[in-house]
Amino acid sequence: MNRHAVISGAGIAGPTLAHHLAERGWRITAIERFPRRRDEGQNIDVRGAAREVAFRMGIEDEIRAANTGEIGMRFLSDEGSPVASFPVSASGEIDGPTAEFEILRGELSRILIERTGDRSDYLFDSEIADLADHGDRVTVNLQDGTTIDADLVVIAEGLHSRSRRYVTDTHAEDLGMYIAYATLPRRDTDDQWWGWQHAPESRSVHVRPDNLGTTRAMLTFMSDVRGLDDLREDDQVAILRKTFADVGGLAPRILADLDRRTSLYFSAVGTMLAPTWSKGRVALLGDAAFCPGTFGGGGTSLAMIGAYVMAGELSCTDDIRGALTRYEQFMRAHVVDASPIIRRSVLKRANPRTRAGVRAVRAAARIVASPFGQATTRVLGNRLATGAADRLRLPDYPPAD
Ligand SMILES: Cc1cc2nc3c(=O)[nH]c(=O)nc-3n(C[C@H](O)[C@H](O)[C@H](O)COP(=O)(O)OP(=O)(O)OC[C@H]3O[C@@H](n4cnc5c(N)ncnc54)[C@H](O)[C@@H]3O)c2cc1C
Repeated sequence: MNRHAVISGAGIAGPTLAHHLAERGWRITAIERFPRRRDEGQNIDVRGAAREVAFRMGIEDEIRAANTGEIGMRFLSDEGSPVASFPVSASGEIDGPTAEFEILRGELSRILIERTGDRSDYLFDSEIADLADHGDRVTVNLQDGTTIDADLVVIAEGLHSRSRRYVTDTHAEDLGMYIAYATLPRRDTDDQWWGWQHAPESRSVHVRPDNLGTTRAMLTFMSDVRGLDDLREDDQVAILRKTFADVGGLAPRILADLDRRTSLYFSAVGTMLAPTWSKGRVALLGDAAFCPGTFGGGGTSLAMIGAYVMAGELSCTDDIRGALTRYEQFMRAHVVDASPIIRRSVLKRANPRTRAGVRAVRAAARIVASPFGQATTRVLGNRLATGAADRLRLPDYPPAD
């Protein structure tokens, strides 16, 4: 009989795992707390070994077709004019801030769910209420009273996962920064560059193009006040208006257009490296297990690679616990490799409090963007802009029948 996996969370990691397990004959029930597929968020990039995962899934062309059209990133002055530019790399080897496989997070999630929808049962507006691991199977009770018996339960609920408690009590580490992602009407003056404007008091303003005829704006600020991500959306908008009221350049337009937004996702930036990634037949995947930061897209590539490795290990054996242990051993080494880029101190340095600090960041960006700086960065392997996913070699597993 087919083995049955319950996957909780239909973001990136969950549907990627659904694909790889369904291909190998597993029955999949995917549970998503939201009433629909979530399409908020901004550009993420599919880097390094994650590109190979996409290639092996046969979704490379779909990802290319959904490219946001971003031509590079540039730092902007207080008035919104360019001070240093980093055009997209055409090499395909090592990317700068804008990757070759640049795609909206929501678009990638759509492609993954569409790819797996006919071979998996997606239950939206649904959540695990409780589960019991009996050793040879797991009983999952959903909040609507449904009971499911499964061979494996995978928690892929993102950074703030509630069901992670079935594996570990560890919570995400808060980095003291908020990011508001807003989808705004595109204006004629919007171009194809990712514009990044620093402002004193550790604030920054970004605009990025998308392939859906809208513009993606991002407002970030550091704060010691916790829980702003739990407020009502109207209150969050009021906070953004007050926090960015004195910022020029890109900010006035974004604040003015917030009333015409089609979505707002207000998140507290955090990281996660769970001390253990499985307990019995229950496993953690994606941001729920390992998250280098919920921005910049690093978690997306690792989530796709993690899903591939978990499914591959499970395909080699009937010993589910052994497979989960090997998945963790393989992935943990690479995730730990990524950890230097996620420290709070790094965020603080990248988001200076003083005007002098902002000037210093722009001066450094000018040097890195100069021909000399670019050559040096290439020689050093561009480790500033790349993460663990770029350095990882994907293991091979027995092909699906
Ligand atoms: C709405 C949204 C927007 C994002 N935007 C960006 C971005 O712009 N840039 C960036 O770098 N990263 C972004 N991220 C994070 C990024 O998607 C992840 O770092 C990465 O892709 C790993 O994906 P994941 O599948 O592990 O987690 P996620 O992509 O966070 O997906 C987790 C899924 O689980 C669902 N879920 C949560 N709790 C439960 C529950 N109890 N039961 C069932 N389902 C549950 C969530 O609704 C979500 O669909 C965003 C995440 C979300 C949810």
